[in-house]
Amino acid sequence: MDKTETLEKLNKFTRREMNEDEVYIFDVILCDNDIDRDGERFSLNALKTLEKLFVGKTGIFDHNPKCSGQTARIFSTELVTDNSKTTAAGEPYTYLKGSAYMVRTDENLSLIREIDGGIKKEVSISCSAKSRKCSVCGADLNRKGCPHTAGKTYNGKVAHAVLDDITDAYEWSFVAVPAQVNAGVTKKFAGAGSETSTKKDELIEKLCAGVRADIYRLCLSNGSDLYAKALTAAADKMDAEELIAFKELLEKEHKSGIVSQLEMKESSLDEFRMEGKNK
Ligand SMILES: [Zn+2]
Repeated sequence: MDKTETLEKLNKFTRREMNEDEVYIFDVILCDNDIDRDGERFSLNALKTLEKLFVGKTGIFDHNPKCSGQTARIFSTELVTDNSKTTAAGEPYTYLKGSAYMVRTDENLSLIREIDGGIKKEVSISCSAKSRKCSVCGADLNRKGCPHTAGKTYNGKVAHAVLDDITDAYEWSFVAVPAQVNAGVTKKFAGAGSETSTKKDELIEKLCAGVRADIYRLCLSNGSDLYAKALTAAADKMDAEELIAFKELLEKEHKSGIVSQLEMKESSLDEFRMEGKNK
């Protein structure tokens, strides 16, 4: 897609025509055909349906509930096959890419900077899948169970549930995670008798541990072990959003190196506390 084509597609969804300076455009991976943490995967047919259904769907950024007004919309989707990667089910890795836009406002400036700065997004989607079949015996798992356990291997193949017959796609949402955490796609279903909860809490705990370790390393490289321990103890009480903000501050100061090391750490904590209060 060249720029003109992109804007043309995007402007089908806007109230008035936008130019390229007014919008922020980015790509997300909505879902793929790999077996996920719930032992399920979308069939290629399901991905093809989702490719159509997700055009025009709104996404929210739920890592920061105070900015709930920040929404993005998917204006174009594309199924992409990466032949260099094979899924656990033995298929070429195929994912559904969504191109999304946000209208630039004063309020989402920092969010856009965050996305530009390489913070990876975990995308969670909501959709309805009528069919959920065992990959080994084909049993309809929405109606009855079968002797096969997801994750176990039968005749050299990992058992899992294949999701198909997508009836609707509802929304997608974003959780910002640090780039070094290898996050997958989570999903949640509505209707069709199967409610799969997102593994968000588990994921957030995992990524918090990663960020805390980063904070400790950053503190260490900025000074003594004592300060690293003190700041890491403070970081233990922070939630995911605070942790990420704190780490960014430390990184910024680590790069600038203007203030002395001792002042650096104290000011970063103070500055961070003030920010916390202002929210
Ligand atoms: Zn089975």
